[in-house]
Amino acid sequence: MSVSVFDLFKIGIGPSSSHTVGPMIAARHFACRLQQQPGWSRVHGVCVELFGSLSATGVGHGTDRAVLLGLAGHEPDRIDPDTIEPTLAQVRAQRSLCLLGEHAVPFVEKEHVQFRRRSLPAHPNGLCFHAHDADGNAVASATYYSVGGGFVVDEHGQRVLSHSTPPAPDTLGHGRGLPHPFRTGAELLAQCRTTGLTPAQLMAANEEHWRSAAEVRRQLLAVWRTMAGAVQRGCASTGELPGPLHVRRRAAELHRKLSSAPEAALRDPLSMLDWVNLYAMAVNEENAAGGRVVTAPTNGAAGVIPAVLHYYVNFLQGPIAPNDDGIATFLLSAGAIGLIYKENASLSGAEVGCQGEVGVACSMAAGALAAVMGGSPGQIENAAEIGMEHNLGMTCDPVGGLVQIPCIERNAMGAIKAINAARMALRGDGTHVVSLDKVIKTMVQTGADMKVKYKETSRGGLAVNVVEC
Ligand code: SF4
Repeated sequence: MSVSVFDLFKIGIGPSSSHTVGPMIAARHFACRLQQQPGWSRVHGVCVELFGSLSATGVGHGTDRAVLLGLAGHEPDRIDPDTIEPTLAQVRAQRSLCLLGEHAVPFVEKEHVQFRRRSLPAHPNGLCFHAHDADGNAVASATYYSVGGGFVVDEHGQRVLSHSTPPAPDTLGHGRGLPHPFRTGAELLAQCRTTGLTPAQLMAANEEHWRSAAEVRRQLLAVWRTMAGAVQRGCASTGELPGPLHVRRRAAELHRKLSSAPEAALRDPLSMLDWVNLYAMAVNEENAAGGRVVTAPTNGAAGVIPAVLHYYVNFLQGPIAPNDDGIATFLLSAGAIGLIYKENASLSGAEVGCQGEVGVACSMAAGALAAVMGGSPGQIENAAEIGMEHNLGMTCDPVGGLVQIPCIERNAMGAIKAINAARMALRGDGTHVVSLDKVIKTMVQTGADMKVKYKETSRGGLAVNVVEC
């Protein structure tokens, strides 16, 4: 697989990349395939089965809603979050769903969305779609896997892309022809040594294999604007998050307090940490509310990278100025590190626990911050390694199956840890005992040994020790 920075930073909606964004893409893909078949006009009903983690935490993560929206033709990067509730209400009231907005079929969620506790063999996040005619005869079926970070594969392991964003040339071409291919930390460092380029420059050159330099920059800045928009909306929104936990949104109140007493920062040198916490919590509250966020590299971990990027833009005057060029360097550096995790590990909490979500986001943010603070490739790789090393073993145990507790605060912790990782690496010379590749290998092994109850099933950890009200 060849991974672009825009595979890792996808504009979408909350609350989950694997349980909301991926299933929506899969559902729309199935409907589009159906539309191209001769039996399209005969289709009288569609049902979906959700397996494993998609069943265990699917309701809390909005999987049932996402498949419904996808079948109706909506896409995570284009749907207006404000239209979601009215669309769902219409389907429920009319007991009918209009496939791709043009072919209505009877649809009652309780009957047509089935939750299966068991997992399919290929991945814990499996979903099957079935279409039938008026006599109940099968018209089509398909199986998909939402493998983390909004990535979706079909039953043959082929990547399924969002329909509205057709693949750039060779996105499925396994990296053939990339000027500077790399899959591991060691290969990244070797490329840097050979070419004299930084990780961000290597990544930019590879991106230009698929799209122009101007388009790369335009899309990177669109990612940044979406991240900044999520922070702003999170800082302005009050009330409770959806779901039975009645979690109060805290970002707006914290923002008001920090903004109204700027002189406090003069007395408390660590008040900057309050701002980093604020940025992360604002994004993750917005994510939990189903708002517009950037998958970075997942939705559950969507706050870490924006928080550290805001820290860079608002607080640092480093060797690389925090302007559009600096922001692009930050995102490309983070992408270079995220790519290595995608190629060798997992971005799925259902597969490796929260190591694969907040852990990877922390590692990406640490490396990116080291880059814009003038770190060498060795220091960048070291920062990314530290960012993961101290997240090893982190489980996924969301209370009530919602992406709220521990997820929102965990993003703030991940952002702070990333800043510290970058600073530790920059105080060294880039040489270190544990390589990024070794820590990634350890993460994969730890994830494999982790019990299923700690992998996005809400059957262990905080999920069973905190009682829902
Ligand atoms: S605990 Fe971590 S992996 Fe699990 S849902 Fe929350 S952010 Fe995602």
